[in-house]
This record gives sequence, C-alpha cells and structure tokens, in this order.
Amino acid sequence: MTRIQMKTPLVEIDGDEMTRIIWKQIKEIIILPYVDLKTEYFDLGLENRDKTQDSVTTEAALRTMELGVAVKCATITPNAQRMTEYSLSSMWKSPNGTIRAILDGTVFRTPILVDCIKPYVSSWKRPITLARHAYGDIYRDSEIRIDGPAKTELLVTYPDGREIRQSVHDFEGAGVILGMHNTDESISSFARSCFQYSLDSGEDLWFATKDTISKTYDHRFKDIFEEIFEMEYSDSFKARGIEYFYTLIDDAVARIMRSEGGMVWACKNYDGDVMSDMVAAACGSLAMMTSVLVSPKGVYEYEAAHGTVTRHYYKYLKGEKTSTNPMATLFAWTGALRKRGELDGTNELVLFADLVEEVSLACIEEGYMTGDLKSMCDLDNVTVLNTEDFLQEISTRISERI
Ligand code: NAP
Ligand code: MG
Repeated sequence: MTRIQMKTPLVEIDGDEMTRIIWKQIKEIIILPYVDLKTEYFDLGLENRDKTQDSVTTEAALRTMELGVAVKCATITPNAQRMTEYSLSSMWKSPNGTIRAILDGTVFRTPILVDCIKPYVSSWKRPITLARHAYGDIYRDSEIRIDGPAKTELLVTYPDGREIRQSVHDFEGAGVILGMHNTDESISSFARSCFQYSLDSGEDLWFATKDTISKTYDHRFKDIFEEIFEMEYSDSFKARGIEYFYTLIDDAVARIMRSEGGMVWACKNYDGDVMSDMVAAACGSLAMMTSVLVSPKGVYEYEAAHGTVTRHYYKYLKGEKTSTNPMATLFAWTGALRKRGELDGTNELVLFADLVEEVSLACIEEGYMTGDLKSMCDLDNVTVLNTEDFLQEISTRISERI
C-alpha cells in the first residue's frame, strides 16, 4: 500500500506524562501505517524545556507562525511539587500561555459527541463550540483591599499630560476595588478569529456580553465585533448562509439551553472560562473535548482540552496498562492533518482525517471504549479496552475501509 504524501510538514509539539505515551501510540498505530508523516518536531517535555531554558517553547510557537498548523500534546505547567519531582532550574511558565501570547489567538473548544453518550441537556443535538477570548479582564487585573473609609478613583494619564479622573466609590467602611483592562487590538483579534472560525465551520456565530450594565467596557466589545463584521465579513457570511448575532449574556445562556447546538458561542475571558466548563461537563468529560487555538493571521494549533493525566501515568510507570481515553488527542491530530490537507490541497489527507474520526466514533457507538466512558454511555454491551487496544481497534477498522 502506498502511504498518503504530505506537502508541508506539521509542527509537532510533544508533551508530558500519559499524553506523551498516547502521542507515540497514536502515531505508530493510527497515522504512520497510512500517512508518510512529515513533521518538524519540538520536544516540550518538561525535561527538555528545562534543558533549553524553555527556549524550545518559543521556537515551536515561532515555527508554527511560519508553517501555519501545529499539533500539541498536553504539557505540565510546573508548580512547587514539579520543581522537586523534575529537579527544575526554574518554575517555567505555562507553555500554552507562551504559545498563546505569540500566536495572539482565541481558544475554540468543541465536544466530541457520540450517540450513545447523551448530553445532560436533552435538546442539544449538535456540538456547541465555545470561543474564549484569552486576554485581559480579571485575569490581568489590579485589586486593592480597602480597610476603612476612603475615596477611590480611576486615574488615566496620557503622555501629553492630559488626565481623566473618575470616582469609583466613596467608602464609609472597609471593602474591595479592582481595575481591569482590555485593548482594541486584542478584542479585534478575538473578533476576527471568531468570524474566521465560523466561516470555516459553517456555523452561526453568537456573541454575548453585559453591555446594558457595562456601558463603556462591554459596549466596546460589542462595537468592535459589529464594525469588523460589517466591514470585513458580512458578505462572506451571507454567501456561506450563516449568521452573526449579538445578544446579552443572560439571554445567550437561556437560548443556548433551549437550542439544538451547532453554533460558535463567543465569550469574554471570564464568561468563556465558566461556560466552556459547563459545556464540557454537560457533554460528558474533558477527555471528549477538542481544543484549537486560532490566530487572526490564520494559524492553527490543535490540542486536547485535558491535561497530562498524571494519575494514569503513575500507574503506567508501575507497569499497569491504563484505559486512558485518547479521543481528544487523536482528534487534535486529525484536526491538524485535515487543516494541513486543506491548506496544501492534498485531499487524501483530508479524507484520511475524516475517516479516522468516523471510525473512532463508530468504535464507541459499537461498544468498544475506554473506561471513563463506560458509566456515561447507555449501551447494554460495553467492552472496556486499554488505550493501546482501543487504538488497535480503530486501526483495524481504518485498514478495512482504506
Ligand atoms: P488532567 O490531566 O486533565 O486529569 C484530571 C483527571 O481527569 C484525570 O485524573 C482523569 O480522572 C480525568 N481525565 C483527564 N483526561 C482523561 C483522559 N484522556 N482519559 C481518561 N481520564 C481522563 O488534569 P490534572 O490532573 O489537573 O493535570 C495534570 C497535569 O496536566 C498538570 O501538570 C497540569 O499542569 C497539566 N495540564 C496541561 C494542560 C495542557 O497542556 N493543555 C491542560 C490542563 C492541565 P481519573 O483519574 O479519575 O481517571
Ligand atoms: Mg476553567
């Protein structure tokens, strides 16, 4: 059999622990037998990040900007305990944070739905993609505890000496204040990434904030989305037969709950944090959630939404075979291969990605799955497989179809 050829390499970003093991298994069992895989490999395993003083993370992100498509394995974000465990020379920053800062992107998360696992919200028939703005607001705020009567103000000083002062509150007793910000540039990038993603996926875009209450801050988000939509995207949305609409966040929540799904829901940073966990939980688990970082320049980085599954890795190290769910990591690979195929015009690669997703879903529908899905699924006959056997089951089905 001749393997599928690739034109441009993927940026392959390896990671840590159980997902690093699954990474290798996915390549060996699912991809390499069928695809003459071309990648540029960056090892973001914690040992190598430490060895390279974390420069490997920046290099991977910069190469992603050049090549356009990356696939990333989950990575450890070090804390005090990891410092000792890996004898680190520094508590390196979150690789996802570093990559996101360079790609300037928006994170899109979509649940992988299978018929035998029903979302807790019974009206949802199609996946809801959550688009979370990943810059600013309370994640970059300044907070002060006020310990007694005090006058508090916002003060803006421009380089030309102009000043704007506005009272926040005259405290009669103790309390708290915070100051937060966002930039037109970041909000615009967020808007463009969302419009582009909707066009690619052919789904309506919803955007919601609380502009009736936050008449300047949230309203700026609403205006920027509106302006960019009218100037740059309204014609292509019309041509694609999809809609953009804005509503209030509370109205959006109520409508999402009654919807059939199948839309992209853009949220500000905090709303996106909360709502993406709600969508994930309502659809089963993070092990069935894909995640892609899309930059406004049209650069894509695919990954799983979950972490390195440490608890399973410690079992693996003791020689146990674990039943860790590889679906989200597998879909990161198929997402990246499909996007590469689309950009390069290599249709076989697109078809291969579609086939892998189709047969892996079919596998679960027919009762072959990893342990985490057993309790959620409503089939009578379920065979729980370890990760490797589950991937073998998928590979057998691919070879029957190819
Ligand atoms: P986690 O790796 O997502 O795992 C938490 C728990 O969720 C697991 O112990 C497991 O539950 C379940 N789970 C997650 N993925 C699963 C899968 N594919 N199959 C089966 N079960 C799965 O989160 P964590 O334990 O909080 O974090 C571990 C490490 O990952 C940390 O060092 C963190 O920094 C890193 N992390 C990385 C990323 C990323 O790179 N994107 C994201 C989050 C966390 P049971 O143990 O009950 O089976
Ligand atoms: Mg969260």
